[in-house]
Amino acid sequence: MANEKTLQDIISHCKEYGFIFPSSEIYDGLGAVYDYGQYGAELKKNIRDYWWKSMTQMHENIVGIDAAIFMHPTVWKASGHVDNFSDPMIDNKDSQKRYRVDHLLEGFAETLPAEQGEALLAKMDQLLAENDFAGLKSLIEENKIKCAISGTCNWTDVRQFNLMFSTQLGSVSDEASEIYLRPETAQGIFVNFLNVQKTGRMKIPFGIAQTGKAFRNEIVARQFIFRMREFEQMEMQFFVRPGDQMKWYEYWKETRMKWHLSLGIAADKYRFHDHVKLAHYADAACDIEFEFPFGFKEVEGIHSRTDFDLKQHQEFSGKKLTYFDTELNQHYIPYVVETSIGLDRCFMMVISEAYELEDLSTPGKEDNRVVLKLPAMLAPIKLAVLPLTKKDGLPEIARELMEQCKPYFKCFYEEKDAIGKRYRRQDAIGTPFCITIDHQTKEDQTVTIRYRDSMQQERIPLASVKNLIMDKIQLF
Ligand code: ATP
Repeated sequence: MANEKTLQDIISHCKEYGFIFPSSEIYDGLGAVYDYGQYGAELKKNIRDYWWKSMTQMHENIVGIDAAIFMHPTVWKASGHVDNFSDPMIDNKDSQKRYRVDHLLEGFAETLPAEQGEALLAKMDQLLAENDFAGLKSLIEENKIKCAISGTCNWTDVRQFNLMFSTQLGSVSDEASEIYLRPETAQGIFVNFLNVQKTGRMKIPFGIAQTGKAFRNEIVARQFIFRMREFEQMEMQFFVRPGDQMKWYEYWKETRMKWHLSLGIAADKYRFHDHVKLAHYADAACDIEFEFPFGFKEVEGIHSRTDFDLKQHQEFSGKKLTYFDTELNQHYIPYVVETSIGLDRCFMMVISEAYELEDLSTPGKEDNRVVLKLPAMLAPIKLAVLPLTKKDGLPEIARELMEQCKPYFKCFYEEKDAIGKRYRRQDAIGTPFCITIDHQTKEDQTVTIRYRDSMQQERIPLASVKNLIMDKIQLF
């Protein structure tokens, strides 16, 4: 059967073809930390660039910044992360394994008949909302939920566990020098709101975008790069007039979904999940969920955050963070609608959608192959240049084509192995176009172009290759 894919298929493929490796693999890896290999780094960069351009180039009123990972420690007090960025956890006393309470209960709910499972989750939601830790522990005990490792129900009390990593700034190890690795990129935008607004003479509504690393000491870190301890976010904070936020929230919901669909992914692989229970600072929030090999899960969040963050920073810093609206002749703290997507999660979405196993039962295909049907604009290598043989002047023509194309897009040259084998290797890394130089090229200056998805081949003039590929990889 064609195109059955599991998470394990994706993980193996990413490793075998140089997309993603476990971190420090020769030391047996580090939990929930991954390194991007030669093709993974290219694909990740292309996704990041596409997002960046969609935000900053295609919207005249959005600019991008690059704030530091380290920030003043008071930032995280003001944002609420010091007090609230924690999850209720429970440890099994026999195995010492720590679980996030909601994940433990959710996992158990999945094993129950639907109605019972839903009732359990409703009860859990209620207890979580009330911060009733004793109640949560009783719920686990009443349902006799066991630790997957020890198989026992010997649980500790439920406790809060902060997800931020801390470290020391400078050489004096007192409390004053304790700082955090940022758990989200958004705060770098909030604290620079006035700097950017003033120096860029930005008028509301306007946005500030940023991509960068974020760190969370996730307890249940699993499902490959879906949940990592070090990951990258692509966030945009859009500053609007108080009262206009719902209009912009709807705008960004629609605009972000269009961006996802522009990746060539079918609409039925996505859904919105509107939050019913809102964070105290939000007046609307939803997730864009994608159907991963393990089910529909959040890939992006869109949140209407009111004026909470700027107000908090104004209070904690003592610096005025108001905007003067010349049309209204009024000072106010802007409201914020944010879009927040994980780059690694987006990578995983793109690659799991692109991965296909085609075998003999696929109509019209004559051979087995693994192919990554990546959008051409995102593919790590855009063009493979393949002389049919290593002699008769063919490599020289191929090299000339490489020289002509490589300033414009990423190319790959290979002259070893049978041509079919070389095509298969390019299919597996998602190269959309292969050009073969053969003996006929010497006679009539034409080459064979082979298209990855259809595997069709046609002859085209050698001189047209560069522009043809340039056309096909256009972002917009
Ligand atoms: P989740 O509920 O999955 O933990 P979240 O709601 O805490 O996610 P946000 O704080 O809204 O996530 O972060 C925005 C985006 O950052 C998420 O939609 C996700 O794509 C990404 N993200 C968050 N945590 C991680 C992580 N540990 N590893 C990889 N990506 C992450």
